[in-house]
Amino acid sequence: MAEHRVTNLLTFDTEEWYHANYDDVDPAALRGRGSNFPAQVEEILAMCADAGAKATFFVLGAVAEDHPAVVRAIAAAGHEIASHGYGHALAYRQTMGEFAADVGRSVAILEDVTGTAVRGYRAPSWSIVAANLDYLAALEELGLIYDASIFPVRTFLYGIPDAPTHIHHPVVAGRSLRLWEVPTSVVTLAGRNIGYSGGFYFRLFPGFFVKYAIRRANRRGQPAIVYLHPREIDPGERCLSLPAKEAFIHYHGIGGTRAKLASLLRTFSFTSVIDHLRTIDPSIGK
Ligand SMILES: [Zn+2]
Repeated sequence: MAEHRVTNLLTFDTEEWYHANYDDVDPAALRGRGSNFPAQVEEILAMCADAGAKATFFVLGAVAEDHPAVVRAIAAAGHEIASHGYGHALAYRQTMGEFAADVGRSVAILEDVTGTAVRGYRAPSWSIVAANLDYLAALEELGLIYDASIFPVRTFLYGIPDAPTHIHHPVVAGRSLRLWEVPTSVVTLAGRNIGYSGGFYFRLFPGFFVKYAIRRANRRGQPAIVYLHPREIDPGERCLSLPAKEAFIHYHGIGGTRAKLASLLRTFSFTSVIDHLRTIDPSIGK
């Protein structure tokens, strides 16, 4: 029986098995090597339909070029299509101009494929950090309504540990943007923010802990933001050859992700980011 007091947010970073930001991985060189991506998305759409859940799919422009029918099927099922950039380049490795061009290119491709306006963006590998927070202004200039790139944690790769942990209008260069920031969920343990609701953290922690942390957010009136990747529900997908630490981060617990997601879908109700924002700001159009 789903708990309906707070509707949580379900998101999928919609990319292929080789879209990773590690030093020795070049996604562009691995493009076209084959993948189970269409079957993974089909499975996710079936799971969402069974549960009556809506989600946001942050799709790479390159993925929409390679699999336009898959992206159209996601949109036709009533889910939100948002941008994950073009080819999974890290935002903080680009100039602001390169960043704006990368996001703009992906938005144009996605809108062409689906015929629907793109409203949101999530950076590859949470690569909006303190040093390039001003890039958010470029998203507003592109006409986007929200960003979902900030992870309020401290890690070796990403994070803004002291960023607000609730949905807010970010302040950039002394100016509060109209753009909404939808930071990813953290739970505070011993004074430190840690992730729990997606990716590595979701695979690492037992399902009961993920549910405990979601309920803790919901008791404060906050939705949890779950984020997963199509490859994470498919232990049979091709693998990158990675050093031990990176392989652990990328693949640990992959055999249990599908069942954990199914259990969450039975326990909580989920919607897309844009539908949630409309409950906060009814002026956001359809
Ligand atoms: Zn990604």
